Amino acid sequence: VSIGPARLRDGALHGRGVLVVFEDVTPVEKAGQMRRDFVANVSHELRTPLTALMGFIETLKGPAREDPAAAERFLSIMEAEASRMNRLVGDLLSLSRVEADERMRPAERVELGALLRASVAGLAPLASEAGVTLIDALPEETDGPLVPGDADQLRQVFSNLVENAIKYGGAGAEVRVAMDAPAYEPRLRATGVRVRVADTGPGIPEIHLPRLTERFYRVDSHRSREMGGTGLGLAIVKHIVNRHRGRMRIDSTPGEGSTFSVVLPVD
Ligand code: ADP
Repeated sequence: VSIGPARLRDGALHGRGVLVVFEDVTPVEKAGQMRRDFVANVSHELRTPLTALMGFIETLKGPAREDPAAAERFLSIMEAEASRMNRLVGDLLSLSRVEADERMRPAERVELGALLRASVAGLAPLASEAGVTLIDALPEETDGPLVPGDADQLRQVFSNLVENAIKYGGAGAEVRVAMDAPAYEPRLRATGVRVRVADTGPGIPEIHLPRLTERFYRVDSHRSREMGGTGLGLAIVKHIVNRHRGRMRIDSTPGEGSTFSVVLPVD
């Protein structure tokens, strides 16, 4: 609330008065708070591996010098921590790139079927390493449909979703990638194609679903970190899907699995 002197001109009220302005600053405050939270989160996420690295460097300079087996073990932990920091910085850069312009005009026409098939094939080794059955349930006869967009970004969307399904699905799970034939999509007011990435993993309790695409939101922080997650994957996915004027939907039943569906407008 701000108060200041004012001249009154309306009607009979010629003369001096007081002007009281009520301004709703909630959105500004909220944005400021979000930015502060984000910086605090990033600092914390970077500091955790950094602290570990510094600890191991100290140990390597001291007691571990005489113990090559221990030194070897510490070095591989350090490597893992350094690559975690590298992933985090990479994801932060991706996020800032896709956040910079929410309303891009997609120039390319991407063959979505071909892109998905290649993504699934590329992740087959990761799946088999994790003991997960990765199923390509995409229509075989076509490379399309054509989606106006950015191929690199769309590839990032689907590899993030499939990687999550593999990571969180865990050994013995099944991950299926499917695509529906393009149809009129009332919510997009255009023809859209729907891609589904479904897993038979542990599922996600309903209470978490609305917050899953927030930056650094994790259902189980310990597990996410253990799996090498940055907590930014779904935030990046959401932004890219929005930029393509698409929609994402998450359905999950604990104990049965999760399905991430992305609908994108087609040409
Ligand atoms: P992270 O880097 O932690 O994987 P994401 O933004 O990709 O971050 O995902 C956010 C959280 O959503 C994860 O930490 C995990 O708890 C949950 N999650 C994502 N995908 C799945 C899935 N397929 N099954 C179960 N939980 C999932």
